[in-house]
Amino acid sequence: MPSSSSSETPLHVVILPFMAKGHTIPLLHLTRLLFLHRSNIAVTIFTTHANSPFIRQSLHDTKASIIELNFPQKFHPEIPQGVESVDKLPSQSLLVPFCKGTKFLQPEFDTIFRSLRPNVSCLISDVFFPWSLEIAAKLSIPRLDFDGASNSAMVFYDILMTQEFLVDSDDELFSVIPSLPDIKLTKNDIEPEFSNPQPGEHTDFYTEVIMATSKSKGIIRNSFYELEPEFVDYWNRENSPKAWNIGPLCLLATKAVSCAEKPLWIQWLDERLEKGKSVLYVAFGSLAEVTVEQLREIAIGLENSGEHFFWVLRLPEPSIRDEFMSEFEERVKGRGLLVKNQWVDQVGILSHECVNGFMSHCGWNSVLESICESVPLLGFPITADQHLNARMVEEYFRIGVKVVTRNGSVRGFFGSECIENKVKELMDIEGEKGKEMRKNVRIFNEKARNAMVGGGSSWRTLNLLMDEVICNNA
Ligand code: UDP
Repeated sequence: MPSSSSSETPLHVVILPFMAKGHTIPLLHLTRLLFLHRSNIAVTIFTTHANSPFIRQSLHDTKASIIELNFPQKFHPEIPQGVESVDKLPSQSLLVPFCKGTKFLQPEFDTIFRSLRPNVSCLISDVFFPWSLEIAAKLSIPRLDFDGASNSAMVFYDILMTQEFLVDSDDELFSVIPSLPDIKLTKNDIEPEFSNPQPGEHTDFYTEVIMATSKSKGIIRNSFYELEPEFVDYWNRENSPKAWNIGPLCLLATKAVSCAEKPLWIQWLDERLEKGKSVLYVAFGSLAEVTVEQLREIAIGLENSGEHFFWVLRLPEPSIRDEFMSEFEERVKGRGLLVKNQWVDQVGILSHECVNGFMSHCGWNSVLESICESVPLLGFPITADQHLNARMVEEYFRIGVKVVTRNGSVRGFFGSECIENKVKELMDIEGEKGKEMRKNVRIFNEKARNAMVGGGSSWRTLNLLMDEVICNNA
Protein backbone atom coordinates (compact mmCIF):
# COMPACT_ATOMS: atom_id res chain seq x y z
CA MET A 1 0.00 0.00 0.00
CA PRO A 2 1.31 3.47 -0.85
CA SER A 3 2.09 6.00 1.82
CA SER A 4 2.78 9.71 1.80
CA SER A 5 6.08 11.49 2.13
CA SER A 6 7.17 12.85 5.49
CA SER A 7 7.05 16.43 4.14
CA GLU A 8 3.25 16.47 4.43
CA THR A 9 1.53 18.45 7.19
CA PRO A 10 1.71 16.48 10.42
CA LEU A 11 -1.68 15.14 11.47
CA HIS A 12 -3.00 14.01 14.81
CA VAL A 13 -6.08 11.81 14.89
CA VAL A 14 -7.80 10.95 18.17
CA ILE A 15 -9.80 7.72 18.25
CA LEU A 16 -12.43 6.76 20.82
CA PRO A 17 -13.51 3.13 20.35
CA PHE A 18 -16.60 1.70 22.03
CA MET A 19 -15.98 -1.08 24.52
CA ALA A 20 -17.23 -4.07 22.56
CA LYS A 21 -14.86 -6.21 20.52
CA GLY A 22 -16.92 -5.88 17.33
CA HIS A 23 -16.62 -2.08 17.61
CA THR A 24 -13.02 -1.88 18.88
CA ILE A 25 -11.32 -4.33 16.49
CA PRO A 26 -12.14 -2.48 13.22
CA LEU A 27 -10.98 0.82 14.75
CA LEU A 28 -7.65 -0.81 15.64
CA HIS A 29 -7.37 -1.90 12.01
CA LEU A 30 -8.21 1.66 10.96
CA THR A 31 -5.38 2.92 13.18
CA ARG A 32 -2.99 0.61 11.35
CA LEU A 33 -4.37 1.84 8.03
CA LEU A 34 -3.81 5.50 8.97
CA PHE A 35 -0.15 4.75 9.74
CA LEU A 36 0.19 3.00 6.38
CA HIS A 37 -1.50 5.82 4.55
CA ARG A 38 0.64 8.64 5.96
CA SER A 39 4.04 8.59 7.51
CA ASN A 40 3.53 11.95 9.18
CA ILE A 41 0.66 11.08 11.48
CA ALA A 42 0.10 10.60 15.19
CA VAL A 43 -2.80 8.56 16.54
CA THR A 44 -4.03 8.72 20.13
CA ILE A 45 -6.55 6.18 21.36
CA PHE A 46 -8.69 6.78 24.43
CA THR A 47 -9.94 3.75 26.30
CA THR A 48 -10.54 2.53 29.85
CA HIS A 49 -8.06 0.70 32.11
CA ALA A 50 -9.67 -2.71 31.63
CA ASN A 51 -9.82 -2.42 27.82
CA SER A 52 -6.33 -1.06 27.43
CA PRO A 53 -4.32 -4.37 27.49
CA PHE A 54 -6.25 -5.74 24.48
CA ILE A 55 -5.65 -2.52 22.54
CA ARG A 56 -1.98 -2.29 23.54
CA GLN A 57 -1.37 -5.86 22.48
CA SER A 58 -3.19 -5.44 19.17
CA LEU A 59 -1.27 -2.28 18.31
CA HIS A 60 2.09 -3.32 19.80
CA ASP A 61 3.84 -2.79 16.46
CA THR A 62 2.47 0.73 15.84
CA LYS A 63 3.28 4.14 17.28
CA ALA A 64 -0.25 4.70 18.59
CA SER A 65 -0.45 6.40 22.00
CA ILE A 66 -3.00 5.04 24.42
CA ILE A 67 -4.64 7.13 27.12
CA GLU A 68 -6.57 5.35 29.87
CA LEU A 69 -9.74 6.86 31.33
CA ASN A 70 -11.31 5.98 34.67
CA PHE A 71 -14.52 4.08 34.10
CA PRO A 72 -17.24 5.14 36.55
CA GLN A 73 -17.73 3.14 39.70
CA LYS A 74 -21.11 1.55 40.23
CA PHE A 75 -23.60 3.51 38.10
CA HIS A 76 -26.39 0.98 37.53
CA PRO A 77 -27.82 -1.55 39.99
CA GLU A 78 -27.51 -4.48 37.58
CA ILE A 79 -24.06 -3.68 36.17
CA PRO A 80 -21.42 -5.01 38.53
CA GLN A 81 -18.53 -2.74 39.44
CA GLY A 82 -15.48 -3.42 37.28
CA VAL A 83 -17.46 -4.29 34.16
CA GLU A 84 -15.97 -2.04 31.47
CA SER A 85 -17.00 -3.84 28.29
CA VAL A 86 -20.19 -5.12 26.74
CA ASP A 87 -18.99 -8.75 26.59
CA LYS A 88 -18.68 -8.74 30.39
CA LEU A 89 -22.26 -7.56 31.02
CA PRO A 90 -24.43 -10.10 32.86
CA SER A 91 -27.02 -9.70 30.08
CA GLN A 92 -27.10 -7.96 26.72
CA SER A 93 -30.36 -6.31 27.80
CA LEU A 94 -28.08 -3.96 29.78
CA LEU A 95 -26.46 -2.57 26.62
CA VAL A 96 -28.32 0.75 26.65
CA PRO A 97 -27.74 1.43 30.39
CA PHE A 98 -24.06 0.59 29.80
CA CYS A 99 -23.88 2.97 26.83
CA LYS A 100 -25.50 5.71 28.88
CA GLY A 101 -23.04 5.03 31.72
CA THR A 102 -20.14 5.84 29.41
CA LYS A 103 -21.23 9.47 29.66
CA PHE A 104 -19.45 9.50 33.02
CA LEU A 105 -16.21 9.33 31.01
CA GLN A 106 -16.98 12.68 29.42
CA PRO A 107 -15.47 15.14 31.96
CA GLU A 108 -12.08 13.38 32.03
CA PHE A 109 -12.10 12.84 28.26
CA ASP A 110 -12.97 16.51 27.64
CA THR A 111 -10.17 17.75 29.91
CA ILE A 112 -7.47 15.60 28.32
CA PHE A 113 -8.77 16.17 24.79
CA ARG A 114 -8.70 19.93 25.39
CA SER A 115 -5.09 19.67 26.59
CA LEU A 116 -4.08 17.93 23.33
CA ARG A 117 -5.38 20.84 21.32
CA PRO A 118 -4.31 22.64 19.10
CA ASN A 119 -2.60 19.61 17.65
CA VAL A 120 -5.70 17.50 17.00
CA SER A 121 -6.85 17.35 13.38
CA CYS A 122 -9.87 15.12 13.89
CA LEU A 123 -11.79 12.99 16.38
CA ILE A 124 -13.02 9.59 15.23
CA SER A 125 -15.44 8.28 17.79
CA ASP A 126 -17.88 5.41 17.89
CA VAL A 127 -21.54 6.24 17.19
CA PHE A 128 -22.33 4.97 20.69
CA PHE A 129 -20.55 8.00 22.21
CA PRO A 130 -22.90 10.83 21.18
CA TRP A 131 -21.55 12.90 24.06
CA SER A 132 -18.13 13.15 22.37
CA LEU A 133 -19.57 15.59 19.83
CA GLU A 134 -19.81 18.36 22.42
CA ILE A 135 -16.12 18.97 23.07
CA ALA A 136 -15.20 18.49 19.40
CA ALA A 137 -17.77 21.12 18.42
CA LYS A 138 -16.59 23.50 21.15
CA LEU A 139 -13.00 23.25 19.94
CA SER A 140 -14.00 23.32 16.24
CA ILE A 141 -12.41 19.94 15.65
CA PRO A 142 -14.28 17.74 13.16
CA ARG A 143 -15.85 14.64 14.65
CA LEU A 144 -16.23 11.60 12.39
CA ASP A 145 -18.55 8.84 13.56
CA PHE A 146 -17.38 5.28 13.30
CA ASP A 147 -20.31 3.03 12.49
CA GLY A 148 -19.34 -0.62 12.29
CA ALA A 149 -22.56 -1.71 10.54
CA SER A 150 -23.08 -2.26 6.81
CA ASN A 151 -24.56 0.36 4.48
CA SER A 152 -27.49 -1.93 3.74
CA ALA A 153 -28.39 -2.36 7.41
CA MET A 154 -28.20 1.38 8.03
CA VAL A 155 -30.27 2.15 4.93
CA PHE A 156 -32.94 -0.34 6.03
CA TYR A 157 -33.03 1.11 9.55
CA ASP A 158 -33.19 4.61 8.14
CA ILE A 159 -36.06 3.77 5.80
CA LEU A 160 -37.89 2.16 8.64
CA MET A 161 -37.35 5.00 11.06
CA THR A 162 -38.24 7.77 8.62
CA GLN A 163 -41.39 5.91 7.57
CA GLU A 164 -40.49 6.00 3.88
CA PHE A 165 -41.63 2.44 3.39
CA LEU A 166 -44.77 0.57 2.59
CA VAL A 167 -45.85 -2.41 4.57
CA ASP A 168 -47.98 -5.01 2.93
CA SER A 169 -50.39 -5.84 5.70
CA ASP A 170 -50.94 -9.42 4.48
CA ASP A 171 -47.46 -10.84 4.62
CA GLU A 172 -45.67 -7.97 6.32
CA LEU A 173 -43.10 -7.67 3.57
CA PHE A 174 -41.53 -4.31 3.09
CA SER A 175 -41.76 -3.04 -0.46
CA VAL A 176 -38.53 -1.17 -0.45
CA ILE A 177 -37.50 1.83 -2.54
CA PRO A 178 -37.31 1.08 -6.31
CA SER A 179 -33.64 2.06 -6.57
CA LEU A 180 -32.79 -0.59 -4.00
CA PRO A 181 -32.55 -4.31 -4.67
CA ASP A 182 -35.65 -6.28 -3.74
CA ILE A 183 -34.56 -7.94 -0.52
CA LYS A 184 -37.46 -9.78 1.07
CA LEU A 185 -37.43 -7.94 4.37
CA THR A 186 -40.01 -8.60 7.00
CA LYS A 187 -40.87 -6.51 10.01
CA ASN A 188 -39.47 -9.34 12.03
CA ASP A 189 -35.99 -8.75 10.61
CA ILE A 190 -35.69 -5.54 12.62
CA GLU A 191 -35.46 -5.48 16.40
CA PRO A 192 -38.88 -4.63 17.90
CA GLU A 193 -37.37 -1.63 19.69
CA PHE A 194 -36.80 -0.09 16.24
CA SER A 195 -39.81 -1.36 14.30
CA ASN A 196 -42.12 -0.30 17.11
CA PRO A 197 -40.26 2.25 19.25
CA GLN A 198 -41.75 2.99 22.65
CA PRO A 199 -40.98 6.00 24.80
CA GLY A 200 -38.20 5.18 27.23
CA GLU A 201 -34.51 4.77 27.80
CA HIS A 202 -33.85 2.80 24.59
CA THR A 203 -35.56 5.26 22.25
CA ASP A 204 -34.01 8.24 24.06
CA PHE A 205 -30.51 6.83 23.65
CA TYR A 206 -30.83 6.04 19.95
CA THR A 207 -32.41 9.45 19.30
CA GLU A 208 -29.36 11.02 20.94
CA VAL A 209 -27.08 8.88 18.73
CA ILE A 210 -28.91 9.93 15.56
CA MET A 211 -28.85 13.61 16.56
CA ALA A 212 -25.11 13.53 17.25
CA THR A 213 -24.40 11.69 14.00
CA SER A 214 -26.38 14.25 12.02
CA LYS A 215 -24.07 16.97 13.38
CA SER A 216 -20.86 15.06 12.66
CA LYS A 217 -18.63 15.69 9.65
CA GLY A 218 -19.16 12.21 8.30
CA ILE A 219 -19.57 8.53 9.03
CA ILE A 220 -16.76 6.06 8.53
CA ARG A 221 -18.14 2.67 7.47
CA ASN A 222 -16.29 -0.61 7.40
CA SER A 223 -17.34 -1.72 3.93
CA PHE A 224 -16.32 -1.25 0.31
CA TYR A 225 -18.26 0.26 -2.56
CA GLU A 226 -18.26 -2.83 -4.78
CA LEU A 227 -19.95 -4.93 -2.10
CA GLU A 228 -23.15 -2.90 -1.74
CA PRO A 229 -23.08 -0.09 -4.34
CA GLU A 230 -26.83 0.64 -4.43
CA PHE A 231 -26.88 1.08 -0.67
CA VAL A 232 -23.81 3.33 -0.56
CA ASP A 233 -25.31 5.47 -3.34
CA TYR A 234 -28.71 5.53 -1.66
CA TRP A 235 -27.25 6.62 1.68
CA ASN A 236 -25.14 9.36 0.20
CA ARG A 237 -27.98 10.62 -2.00
CA GLU A 238 -30.72 10.59 0.61
CA ASN A 239 -28.87 11.15 3.88
CA SER A 240 -26.29 13.20 5.59
CA PRO A 241 -23.64 13.26 6.77
CA LYS A 242 -21.75 11.44 4.06
CA ALA A 243 -20.74 7.82 4.62
CA TRP A 244 -17.07 7.16 3.83
CA ASN A 245 -16.55 3.48 3.03
CA ILE A 246 -13.04 2.52 4.03
CA GLY A 247 -12.93 -1.22 4.24
CA PRO A 248 -12.85 -4.08 4.66
CA LEU A 249 -10.63 -3.15 7.58
CA CYS A 250 -10.05 -6.78 8.53
CA LEU A 251 -7.51 -6.87 5.69
CA LEU A 252 -5.29 -4.95 8.10
CA ALA A 253 -5.50 -7.72 10.71
CA THR A 254 -2.10 -8.97 11.78
CA LYS A 255 -1.20 -12.55 12.47
CA ALA A 256 -1.64 -13.55 16.11
CA VAL A 257 1.46 -12.87 18.23
CA SER A 258 3.63 -15.92 17.66
CA CYS A 259 3.64 -18.37 20.51
CA ALA A 260 5.86 -21.38 21.00
CA GLU A 261 3.01 -23.76 20.41
CA LYS A 262 0.05 -23.52 18.06
CA PRO A 263 -3.31 -23.39 19.84
CA LEU A 264 -4.95 -26.78 20.22
CA TRP A 265 -7.63 -25.95 17.64
CA ILE A 266 -5.11 -24.99 14.97
CA GLN A 267 -3.32 -28.30 15.54
CA TRP A 268 -6.70 -30.01 15.19
CA LEU A 269 -7.41 -28.13 11.93
CA ASP A 270 -3.93 -29.10 10.65
CA GLU A 271 -4.80 -32.75 11.29
CA ARG A 272 -8.10 -32.41 9.38
CA LEU A 273 -6.18 -30.88 6.49
CA GLU A 274 -3.71 -33.77 6.47
CA LYS A 275 -6.66 -36.16 6.29
CA GLY A 276 -8.17 -34.16 3.42
CA LYS A 277 -11.25 -33.11 5.42
CA SER A 278 -13.31 -29.96 5.01
CA VAL A 279 -14.28 -28.23 8.26
CA LEU A 280 -17.25 -26.04 9.17
CA TYR A 281 -16.31 -23.27 11.62
CA VAL A 282 -19.15 -22.38 14.00
CA ALA A 283 -19.02 -19.16 16.04
CA PHE A 284 -21.44 -16.42 17.03
CA GLY A 285 -19.16 -13.48 17.77
CA SER A 286 -18.18 -11.94 21.06
CA LEU A 287 -21.58 -11.16 22.59
CA ALA A 288 -24.37 -13.37 21.29
CA GLU A 289 -26.64 -15.00 23.84
CA VAL A 290 -27.99 -18.35 22.63
CA THR A 291 -30.44 -20.27 24.81
CA VAL A 292 -29.50 -23.74 26.07
CA GLU A 293 -32.46 -25.20 24.11
CA GLN A 294 -31.21 -23.58 20.89
CA LEU A 295 -27.65 -24.75 21.55
CA ARG A 296 -28.92 -28.32 21.84
CA GLU A 297 -30.70 -28.07 18.49
CA ILE A 298 -27.50 -26.73 16.91
CA ALA A 299 -25.57 -29.63 18.43
CA ILE A 300 -27.99 -32.25 17.07
CA GLY A 301 -28.04 -30.54 13.67
CA LEU A 302 -24.24 -30.56 13.51
CA GLU A 303 -24.07 -34.18 14.65
CA ASN A 304 -26.64 -35.34 12.10
CA SER A 305 -25.04 -33.39 9.26
CA GLY A 306 -22.07 -35.78 9.33
CA GLU A 307 -19.70 -32.84 8.71
CA HIS A 308 -16.45 -32.07 10.54
CA PHE A 309 -16.83 -28.93 12.61
CA PHE A 310 -15.01 -26.62 15.01
CA TRP A 311 -17.41 -24.83 17.34
CA VAL A 312 -16.38 -21.86 19.49
CA LEU A 313 -18.97 -21.58 22.21
CA ARG A 314 -19.69 -18.77 24.60
CA LEU A 315 -21.67 -20.08 27.56
CA PRO A 316 -22.66 -18.85 30.97
CA GLU A 317 -20.67 -20.76 33.65
CA PRO A 318 -23.43 -23.19 34.76
CA SER A 319 -24.14 -24.32 31.18
CA ILE A 320 -20.52 -25.34 30.65
CA ARG A 321 -21.13 -28.48 32.66
CA ASP A 322 -24.39 -29.21 30.84
CA GLU A 323 -24.74 -33.01 30.71
CA PHE A 324 -26.32 -33.01 27.26
CA MET A 325 -23.40 -31.03 25.81
CA SER A 326 -20.81 -33.29 27.48
CA GLU A 327 -22.43 -36.39 26.00
CA PHE A 328 -22.65 -34.68 22.62
CA GLU A 329 -18.95 -33.84 22.77
CA GLU A 330 -18.15 -37.45 23.50
CA ARG A 331 -20.29 -38.71 20.58
CA VAL A 332 -18.74 -36.39 17.98
CA LYS A 333 -15.15 -36.86 19.16
CA GLY A 334 -12.81 -37.08 16.20
CA ARG A 335 -15.05 -35.11 13.90
CA GLY A 336 -16.17 -32.20 16.04
CA LEU A 337 -14.10 -29.94 18.29
CA LEU A 338 -15.69 -27.63 20.87
CA VAL A 339 -13.83 -24.77 22.52
CA LYS A 340 -15.67 -23.04 25.34
CA ASN A 341 -15.34 -19.46 26.52
CA GLN A 342 -11.98 -18.81 24.89
CA TRP A 343 -10.86 -15.97 22.69
CA VAL A 344 -9.67 -17.37 19.36
CA ASP A 345 -7.98 -15.72 16.41
CA GLN A 346 -11.03 -15.84 14.12
CA VAL A 347 -9.27 -14.43 11.05
CA GLY A 348 -6.52 -17.05 11.51
CA ILE A 349 -9.13 -19.82 11.70
CA LEU A 350 -11.00 -18.62 8.62
CA SER A 351 -7.73 -18.49 6.71
CA HIS A 352 -6.95 -22.14 7.54
CA GLU A 353 -6.99 -24.15 4.33
CA CYS A 354 -9.40 -26.80 5.59
CA VAL A 355 -12.09 -24.32 6.72
CA ASN A 356 -14.70 -24.42 4.01
CA GLY A 357 -17.78 -22.94 5.62
CA PHE A 358 -18.65 -20.56 8.46
CA MET A 359 -21.83 -20.89 10.49
CA SER A 360 -22.03 -17.37 11.86
CA HIS A 361 -24.42 -15.00 13.64
CA CYS A 362 -23.56 -12.59 10.78
CA GLY A 363 -22.08 -9.81 12.86
CA TRP A 364 -20.80 -7.43 10.18
CA ASN A 365 -17.12 -8.04 11.03
CA SER A 366 -17.63 -11.79 10.73
CA VAL A 367 -19.29 -11.39 7.31
CA LEU A 368 -16.37 -9.25 6.06
CA GLU A 369 -13.77 -11.62 7.52
CA SER A 370 -15.44 -14.55 5.78
CA ILE A 371 -15.40 -12.67 2.47
CA CYS A 372 -11.74 -11.79 2.92
CA GLU A 373 -10.88 -15.46 3.41
CA SER A 374 -13.24 -16.70 0.65
CA VAL A 375 -15.30 -18.79 3.06
CA PRO A 376 -19.05 -19.05 2.34
CA LEU A 377 -21.47 -18.50 5.23
CA LEU A 378 -24.40 -20.13 6.92
CA GLY A 379 -26.21 -17.21 8.55
CA PHE A 380 -27.61 -17.92 12.00
CA PRO A 381 -28.63 -14.42 13.14
CA ILE A 382 -29.41 -13.69 16.76
CA THR A 383 -29.90 -9.98 17.33
CA ALA A 384 -29.27 -6.38 16.17
CA ASP A 385 -28.44 -6.01 12.44
CA GLN A 386 -27.60 -9.71 12.06
CA HIS A 387 -30.96 -10.68 10.51
CA LEU A 388 -30.48 -8.08 7.79
CA ASN A 389 -26.90 -9.19 7.20
CA ALA A 390 -27.96 -12.84 6.94
CA ARG A 391 -30.54 -11.92 4.29
CA MET A 392 -27.92 -9.94 2.39
CA VAL A 393 -25.52 -12.90 2.53
CA GLU A 394 -27.96 -15.23 0.81
CA GLU A 395 -30.23 -12.97 -1.21
CA TYR A 396 -27.93 -10.17 -2.42
CA PHE A 397 -24.25 -11.16 -2.12
CA ARG A 398 -25.15 -14.82 -2.82
CA ILE A 399 -22.22 -16.01 -0.77
CA GLY A 400 -24.06 -18.35 1.54
CA VAL A 401 -27.31 -19.64 2.96
CA LYS A 402 -29.28 -18.78 6.07
CA VAL A 403 -31.54 -20.56 8.51
CA VAL A 404 -35.26 -19.86 8.16
CA THR A 405 -38.32 -20.83 10.13
CA ARG A 406 -41.30 -22.53 8.44
CA ASN A 407 -42.88 -19.14 7.70
CA GLY A 408 -39.72 -17.75 6.10
CA SER A 409 -38.49 -15.73 9.05
CA VAL A 410 -34.81 -15.46 9.94
CA ARG A 411 -35.68 -14.78 13.59
CA GLY A 412 -36.93 -17.45 15.92
CA PHE A 413 -36.15 -20.90 17.14
CA PHE A 414 -34.44 -23.16 14.63
CA GLY A 415 -34.87 -26.90 14.91
CA SER A 416 -32.07 -29.41 14.40
CA GLU A 417 -33.48 -30.56 11.06
CA CYS A 418 -33.28 -27.06 9.57
CA ILE A 419 -29.71 -26.69 10.86
CA GLU A 420 -28.67 -30.12 9.55
CA ASN A 421 -30.08 -29.36 6.08
CA LYS A 422 -28.48 -25.93 5.89
CA VAL A 423 -25.11 -27.25 7.03
CA LYS A 424 -25.26 -29.93 4.33
CA GLU A 425 -26.23 -27.32 1.73
CA LEU A 426 -23.33 -25.06 2.73
CA MET A 427 -20.74 -27.83 2.85
CA ASP A 428 -21.82 -29.40 -0.46
CA ILE A 429 -18.75 -28.16 -2.26
CA GLU A 430 -19.51 -30.01 -5.49
CA GLY A 431 -23.21 -29.09 -5.64
CA GLU A 432 -24.42 -26.33 -7.96
CA LYS A 433 -25.27 -23.92 -5.12
CA GLY A 434 -22.08 -24.80 -3.24
CA LYS A 435 -19.97 -24.00 -6.31
CA GLU A 436 -21.90 -20.80 -7.00
CA MET A 437 -21.48 -19.35 -3.50
CA ARG A 438 -17.78 -20.23 -3.46
CA LYS A 439 -17.30 -18.55 -6.82
CA ASN A 440 -19.15 -15.43 -5.62
CA VAL A 441 -17.25 -15.17 -2.36
CA ARG A 442 -13.93 -15.44 -4.25
CA ILE A 443 -15.02 -12.64 -6.58
CA PHE A 444 -15.88 -10.39 -3.60
CA ASN A 445 -12.60 -11.32 -1.96
CA GLU A 446 -10.72 -10.07 -5.00
CA LYS A 447 -12.80 -6.89 -5.14
CA ALA A 448 -12.20 -6.32 -1.42
CA ARG A 449 -8.43 -6.63 -1.83
CA ASN A 450 -8.46 -4.32 -4.86
CA ALA A 451 -10.52 -1.75 -2.94
CA MET A 452 -7.87 -1.45 -0.25
CA VAL A 453 -4.81 -0.85 -2.41
CA GLY A 454 -3.70 2.34 -4.21
CA GLY A 455 -6.29 3.31 -6.84
CA GLY A 456 -8.95 1.09 -5.24
CA SER A 457 -12.30 2.51 -4.07
CA SER A 458 -11.60 2.41 -0.31
CA TRP A 459 -8.11 3.82 -0.73
CA ARG A 460 -9.44 6.67 -2.90
CA THR A 461 -12.15 7.33 -0.31
CA LEU A 462 -9.51 7.57 2.41
CA ASN A 463 -7.54 10.03 0.25
CA LEU A 464 -10.65 12.17 -0.16
CA LEU A 465 -11.50 11.98 3.53
CA MET A 466 -8.00 13.14 4.36
CA ASP A 467 -8.22 16.06 1.92
CA GLU A 468 -11.76 17.17 2.68
CA VAL A 469 -12.00 16.65 6.43
CA ILE A 470 -8.84 15.65 8.27
CA CYS A 471 -6.08 17.73 6.62
CA ASN A 472 -8.43 20.68 6.32
CA ASN A 473 -8.22 21.08 10.04
CA ALA A 474 -4.50 20.43 10.46
N1 UDP B 1 -13.57 -12.43 17.48
C1 UDP B 1 -12.36 -13.09 17.59
N2 UDP B 1 -12.28 -14.14 18.44
C2 UDP B 1 -13.33 -14.57 19.18
C3 UDP B 1 -14.56 -13.88 19.05
C4 UDP B 1 -14.65 -12.81 18.20
O1 UDP B 1 -11.36 -12.75 16.92
O2 UDP B 1 -13.16 -15.53 19.93
C5 UDP B 1 -13.63 -11.22 16.63
C6 UDP B 1 -14.17 -11.50 15.24
O3 UDP B 1 -13.14 -11.93 14.38
C7 UDP B 1 -14.74 -10.14 14.86
C8 UDP B 1 -15.24 -9.58 16.19
O4 UDP B 1 -14.54 -10.29 17.20
O5 UDP B 1 -13.70 -9.30 14.39
C9 UDP B 1 -16.71 -9.80 16.38
O6 UDP B 1 -17.40 -8.91 15.59
P1 UDP B 1 -18.76 -9.27 14.87
O7 UDP B 1 -19.25 -8.02 14.22
O8 UDP B 1 -18.59 -10.43 13.97
O9 UDP B 1 -19.72 -9.74 16.03
P2 UDP B 1 -20.09 -9.15 17.49
O10 UDP B 1 -19.16 -9.79 18.44
O11 UDP B 1 -19.94 -7.67 17.43
O12 UDP B 1 -21.50 -9.61 17.66
